[in-house]
Amino acid sequence: MSAAAFDALRPPPGCAYRDLFSARLRPDVARWATGHGLALHALKQLQRSRGGRSEKFLFGLGDGYAVESVLIRRRDGFTACVSSQVGCAFSCRFCASGQAGLKRNLTAAEIVEQVVHLGPRVNRIVFMGIGEPLNNYDNVLGAIRLLRDRRGLGFPTTGITLSTIGIPKALRRLREEHLGINLTISLHATTQAVRDRLIPGAARHDIGEVVTRALSWADRHRRKVTFVYLVLPGVNDSVADAQRLVSMFADKPARINLMRWNPVDAIKLRRTEDRMLSFFRHRLDRAGIPVVVRDTQGSDIDAACGQLWLRDLGGNRASDR
Ligand code: SF4
Repeated sequence: MSAAAFDALRPPPGCAYRDLFSARLRPDVARWATGHGLALHALKQLQRSRGGRSEKFLFGLGDGYAVESVLIRRRDGFTACVSSQVGCAFSCRFCASGQAGLKRNLTAAEIVEQVVHLGPRVNRIVFMGIGEPLNNYDNVLGAIRLLRDRRGLGFPTTGITLSTIGIPKALRRLREEHLGINLTISLHATTQAVRDRLIPGAARHDIGEVVTRALSWADRHRRKVTFVYLVLPGVNDSVADAQRLVSMFADKPARINLMRWNPVDAIKLRRTEDRMLSFFRHRLDRAGIPVVVRDTQGSDIDAACGQLWLRDLGGNRASDR
């Protein structure tokens, strides 16, 4: 609910819009919200597991489904990794979230509430949990607007990153939004054939169009777009792949994150060797393309997206167990 809609509902005396987002609701605000059919604090914490720098949360939703969020400690603060859908339609071969298919979209409120639950120390938000955010465009954009509303959470948009496989039609819309967010594209391939194998649900998205639209977004917003490339031995780690990456991104407003595979039960992909990552990094670096090598975070608590949800609930409602 926007601040304007809140005003129109004539809230109880002394209740400010930002009170709706506080971790502890005042009893009179809770009664007022219920009376107006507002589902504040609709998420119920089902599980919390700690490991290394990450803490993973499983939240139950009103209809019995569940989503997960991860809180990641950095040197200069905390990142909230939030989900945008229950399940995912894209079935990426390297991701647990897509294994059970898409159940439903999260509402804007359900997305915002994950951030509220992860606490006031959060100073970065990444849409990198369960679901493809651009496949739930209106609710994700609605959530970003709620998060940045100065009368609400007042979250700085420069601290929000939308991570997507890059749905071309949605990227075209996103280019025209003035949000000040960061954009990350899960590319993972340099040819259509390999991308279709790795992201079967996006087989109708032309890889060239995905890259062009993302770079167009970067030009329009005068910032760099990050392309993530999960290096998989024998799949996308050839010399020709490295050369194609250079051709795609030399002199473009782009940076590359090379990722090491974080093993997931039942997904048979091999982890790449350090020397291949070094080779790719060297080639990109020499071409003047900003590049970093990253490990998928929090493997000690299955912190790759969707693993807790899939492992513990099999993608079903918590109440169906
Ligand atoms: S990586 Fe993203 S788009 Fe692919 S299945 Fe997982 S959640 Fe969906």
